[in-house]
Amino acid sequence: MGIKHLAQVGDPHRSTIFTQAWITDQQWHLTDDWAEQWQRYIQALTETHIKLHEQDDELIWAPAKTGIYTPKLGYLKLIEDKKPDLLKNWWSDIWQLQAQPRTRLLMWNILANKIPTGENLKRRAFAGPTWCVLCNKAEESSSHLFLTCEVTIEIWQQVKQSLNITTAWHAEDIPTAWTHWWTAVTSEKARNLPLVVSTYIWYKRNDIIFEEGRGNWQILPPSICAAYTEIPFDNKTNSPRHIIPEIINRDMPWAYFDGAASAQGCGGGILFHFTDTHFFHLRLGLGLGTNNHAELITLRHLLYFALSKNCRQVQIFGDSMIVIDWANNKSICHTYSLKHILEEIVFFKTHFDRITVSHIYRERNTTADRLSKEAADRPLGDWMIEEYSPDGMHRFYHRPYIDGLQQGDILPF
Ligand SMILES: [Zn+2]
Repeated sequence: MGIKHLAQVGDPHRSTIFTQAWITDQQWHLTDDWAEQWQRYIQALTETHIKLHEQDDELIWAPAKTGIYTPKLGYLKLIEDKKPDLLKNWWSDIWQLQAQPRTRLLMWNILANKIPTGENLKRRAFAGPTWCVLCNKAEESSSHLFLTCEVTIEIWQQVKQSLNITTAWHAEDIPTAWTHWWTAVTSEKARNLPLVVSTYIWYKRNDIIFEEGRGNWQILPPSICAAYTEIPFDNKTNSPRHIIPEIINRDMPWAYFDGAASAQGCGGGILFHFTDTHFFHLRLGLGLGTNNHAELITLRHLLYFALSKNCRQVQIFGDSMIVIDWANNKSICHTYSLKHILEEIVFFKTHFDRITVSHIYRERNTTADRLSKEAADRPLGDWMIEEYSPDGMHRFYHRPYIDGLQQGDILPF
């Protein structure tokens, strides 16, 4: 490149050679041979680019008009034969879906150690400073910038904390870190994270160098998290569930149930529709137990509630696949404490002329889910029923705790 730091020789009185013992009265006490050499040297100096000034010595950056080196000028000088626009493409786009192929290309370049970090530029005879602009503490290499820089480590820490991801982005080199990451994370979306983080770090680094932006990297973690959150699920392992609304025959009642278990106790939630405009909300305190226990007891109460309303036909929906399969005799319950509840459910089912118990996704069961959670801190046997009528009437029944009720007992509606 032929770029060198040039020495500017200033006021000779400030130069140390004038304090040497062999100089007196500003006169040279040199032998004739040395005096001749000295004359030649001064002559050579004046003929070259070194200018003599009455100023302090300083380092200047020759390609800059001001003589002051900036990382921007250094990199621009280096890549001027590479069309800066090409480089600019890499960081000019904030994360967008359309930018994904390019972003992937960047990651590929990072992995292949082909991006123009200071270390790589030096290999191409770049003589300028190649310090990391993020931390200003080490030479910039790919593995420093994307792996070991203290700023990068801090960014990763904050991002992982916000996204609740525990997998480590750490290894001796980037390809190893990349491989570890891909093996350790199971979600396809999380696999994209090194790509997003590295893109933003690269963006920031270029911003500091080329736009002479400020080094406030603190804005990066929230931006990274926002970009990451916007990545759609685009794969089979983690694609959004294609939720088809349950098919309801509105000629007969339909109902949703859910169970919730917490340390305080279990709750059951039921949404029971006679029609679209005539329906019930039930919240049942169920005492202590597991989630399957809460689900099963709630289903049993739902059947009991329907029968107590002289209902002989019902379509039931729940989001617990295991409980639905038990109720449909598609799988066998091996938990002893749950078996007798299941037997009662099967027995109650025989009292209906028409009954279906179908699985739906949680997303379709939000009301029953909410009711069950609200019921979870109610004591065993405590229940609340709200009735919504077509005439706009809203009736509310509450029966507080009944003494002597056993866990699993049917609540008398
Ligand atoms: Zn650094």
